[in-house]
Amino acid sequence: MSILVLNCGSSSLKYQLINISSGMCLTKGSVEKIGGNEAIFSYEIGKNERFKEVYQIFDHTDALTYVIKSITNPDHNILKSIDGIAAIGHRVVHGGEKFTESVLIDDGVISEIRECMELAPLHNPANLQGILVCMKLLPDVPNIAVFDTAFHQTMPDYAYIYALPYVMYTRHKIRRYGFHGTSHRFVAERAAKMLGKPLKNTSVITCHLGNGSSICAIKNGKSIDTSMGFTPLEGLIMGSRSGDLDPAIILHIISKEELTVHEANSMLNKHSGLLGISGNTNDMRELTESMKKGDKRAQLAISILVYRLKKYICGYLGAMGGADAIIFTAGIGENSAYVRENSLSNLEFMGIKIDKRKNKSITGEGFISGNDSKIKILVISTNEELVIARDTANMLKKRKK
Ligand code: ADP
Repeated sequence: MSILVLNCGSSSLKYQLINISSGMCLTKGSVEKIGGNEAIFSYEIGKNERFKEVYQIFDHTDALTYVIKSITNPDHNILKSIDGIAAIGHRVVHGGEKFTESVLIDDGVISEIRECMELAPLHNPANLQGILVCMKLLPDVPNIAVFDTAFHQTMPDYAYIYALPYVMYTRHKIRRYGFHGTSHRFVAERAAKMLGKPLKNTSVITCHLGNGSSICAIKNGKSIDTSMGFTPLEGLIMGSRSGDLDPAIILHIISKEELTVHEANSMLNKHSGLLGISGNTNDMRELTESMKKGDKRAQLAISILVYRLKKYICGYLGAMGGADAIIFTAGIGENSAYVRENSLSNLEFMGIKIDKRKNKSITGEGFISGNDSKIKILVISTNEELVIARDTANMLKKRKK
């Protein structure tokens, strides 16, 4: 059974076609710059064949048409026809409080996704557009929505309510939602398997460190707290997002620099974080190189990231009363031995001891804790698309029963 996984942005569309029994990705790709004369359609077939084509692509309907043509192109030898697509799994960023798990999309779900739009004005409209385009082009194929927020709906109220007038929650739905739910869930499930324990008895801290970063406290398999909040801006410092700061700073800067709300938003999301501090790049590889050459601002940016990550890890260990493991995932988490080693340094008193040699040499997934570390430390490659594909396949099975 093959599942098409779609992630639609305002001017982009990313996809993977996944064979559910093997978990293998048969083909994947993206269409970027949708809406222009020079949209870029890039795709891979298997591991080695890569293609890049430029077309005039006006909208997401056009874009998906190219994707379907590529998937069913006899020369590509992927699927004979669109009948080979059993269902489509859609990444939907915000499910508000309505969605605690993935759902089969019907008219009711569509209107509820619409209601969540004001909570994610940049993402949900594009996600919904992807769903509507699929319904139009592939009317017989079921669509399933998988939400970034759903996994965190198990947080207790004292973790998700902000200390604002309570009416801000009831009137404007202002609360912590958390994001990257599919990734935190995937690596927690994988960690439980690697630890040889049932997920419901496994407590872990998952550190998803990519361009966007978040950390999650997962107690007995359930998210009890996470660093991203009402939006994906809160928490750890990220590629170009500030993460936590004193909210009064924004008011001060808006008045001093005479910024509009739009400009302030852009500063916090696009010009802060690693990029803002280093003044140079949001890319951890480049920052690490610059740090090695003695660049002080690159060193500072990385030090802040590491220091704040350590504070979150220790805070969540306190919130959970300990954990079985700490997991690192995503671009930085999977690849930066420096970040892993330094965010866990001097924590032996808490039962955390990293094996520096294993940490430096690891490729792929595995344990990097010392044999005598009470809390295990793991590196696991995240695979959000596979979670979406599996949820989609499970929904199909339920539907058929
Ligand atoms: P996104 O949130 O865009 O999916 P990724 O999970 O791909 O992000 O992570 C991107 C980050 O991972 C970048 O900062 C990149 O520099 C970093 N990264 C990727 N490979 C390495 C590496 N070998 N060493 C250090 N950082 C890396």
